[in-house]
Amino acid sequence: MPVSPDDARLMDVLQGGRCFYCGEPVGAKATFDHLIPQAYGGIDDPANVVLAHRRCNQRKGDRLPTIEELERFFHDRRTSRLGVWQPLRALRDADAGQEWIAVARAISQEK
Ligand SMILES: [Zn+2]
Repeated sequence: MPVSPDDARLMDVLQGGRCFYCGEPVGAKATFDHLIPQAYGGIDDPANVVLAHRRCNQRKGDRLPTIEELERFFHDRRTSRLGVWQPLRALRDADAGQEWIAVARAISQEK
């Protein structure tokens, strides 16, 4: 389900009003960044979305999140109804070099 205005407000609180990538205040100009890019099957749902500056979102492009980013996301979401999309956990647990296949496999199991 796409991010609702309520979800976006909650996300802003969870992130302390800061961009997920650079940590600087993001304010009302925040964009929705998909941790697992939609181009690779990432869902448009709060459980796969963070707030980021447009420039940080664009700089991230179509890469997968790093382990550090994943751990930060899981920490932010640990008690939040916004949740964590299961393929992100599969990515964290993937062996080095197996990240993309782990994500693809986890996404196929979601459907
Ligand atoms: Zn930023």
